[in-house]
Amino acid sequence: MDPTNGQQTGECVNPMTDLPDLLVRRRKIANVLRGEPWVYENAVISEGFGPGLYRVVTDSGQPIGVADVNPKAMVVARILTRRDDFQGIETYLNQSVMGALQRRLRLGYSFQGGAARLINSEGDGLPGLVVDVYGRTLVVDFITRGMRDRQTLILAALRQHFNDSTIVCRMGSDAAKREGCEPLQAPSTEVTFAEHGIRYTLDVGAGQKTGFYLDQRDNRLLIARCAGGRKVLDLFSYQGAFSLSAVSGGAISALAVDSSEPALALARSHAQANKFGLSTLQGDVFDVLEPLAQEGPFDLIICDPPKLAPSKKDRNKGISAYRYLTDRCLRLLPEGGLLFLASCSQTINRADLLEIVSQVATKRGERMDVLALGSQPADHPWPAAFGTGHYLSAVLFEKRAG
Ligand code: SAH
Repeated sequence: MDPTNGQQTGECVNPMTDLPDLLVRRRKIANVLRGEPWVYENAVISEGFGPGLYRVVTDSGQPIGVADVNPKAMVVARILTRRDDFQGIETYLNQSVMGALQRRLRLGYSFQGGAARLINSEGDGLPGLVVDVYGRTLVVDFITRGMRDRQTLILAALRQHFNDSTIVCRMGSDAAKREGCEPLQAPSTEVTFAEHGIRYTLDVGAGQKTGFYLDQRDNRLLIARCAGGRKVLDLFSYQGAFSLSAVSGGAISALAVDSSEPALALARSHAQANKFGLSTLQGDVFDVLEPLAQEGPFDLIICDPPKLAPSKKDRNKGISAYRYLTDRCLRLLPEGGLLFLASCSQTINRADLLEIVSQVATKRGERMDVLALGSQPADHPWPAAFGTGHYLSAVLFEKRAG
């Protein structure tokens, strides 16, 4: 088998049948037969294969689809398409990029001065590829080796629609480790864009992920809408985007707390550029919540931690951490106060957040009402059959008399 086949643009008569086969055990891919795109190590029968594009076929001879394969990863194969009219990777990439762009334009995203996710991995039929657009800069985030190996084709596909934009590439250290590659740091590139009328200027080469958490965009609008007249505490604030949204919505004050001083320095510079008041506190949220009692109460608390349960085995630890955070937040919250609690761990979902908060509140003799439910926005789609793609859950609660 040709380990470089993922790069081939193909002049062949039938690109689909020309792909090498990856043989898998049918009884080990129940998830894939249900529509999930991930084939795990334990399902693969083929041996000695290299990375690249394959046609996944079961041991009963059933063809499943075209997949990107990395023998070094735990998710050995990620299915790109189950259609049998695959015309080669170059055509597939071009069509998928165009499809992702048209889909967003129809959803009202403009890509003119704003920021939005153009490609969301499995949600756009391109497992392992994320592209975020910030004003006139595109940040390409490789999650898999397969996508990284075809960087040239991907950039060419993007250039067809974003000819005048700067395009930078990155691969985070977690993804690189999972895929057996070296991390790739995006070059220092300053971008300016607006979200809900707030201007942000930041270096996409220096920040976390692609530079900004676009996935909370809709939830920040919700926060702006209910922040009027409130004293706000923004826990795990990163660059303070929730705080700034709250201030734009009429909050009396906002205190952004994060462990990263560079993130808080950016929060202050965004606040200054928008002529907003903002206080920051550098520290570990798990340590500062108790001393913060002296500065409370706060009428609106936003709690948006990083992944507290990255995998199933961390779930119990993650739930305990959420219980602790909820308890400490409720101590700082007066009656009528709002708590916005988010989870970006697939293993801690909306139902978990509702249960955690109701249990902690009941134990404290308090009642929490649900005002709104939040998720990732429409530019972060996922296949309905692939629950893992739905990673962001959020709930807005109001504290009531017991
Ligand atoms: N709410 C942000 C995104 C938060 S991402 C937004 O809307 O943009 C999670 C943040 O938590 C990161 O900025 C990270 O630096 C911070 N962080 C991680 N662990 C922390 C801890 N124990 N205490 C304080 N901040 C922490």
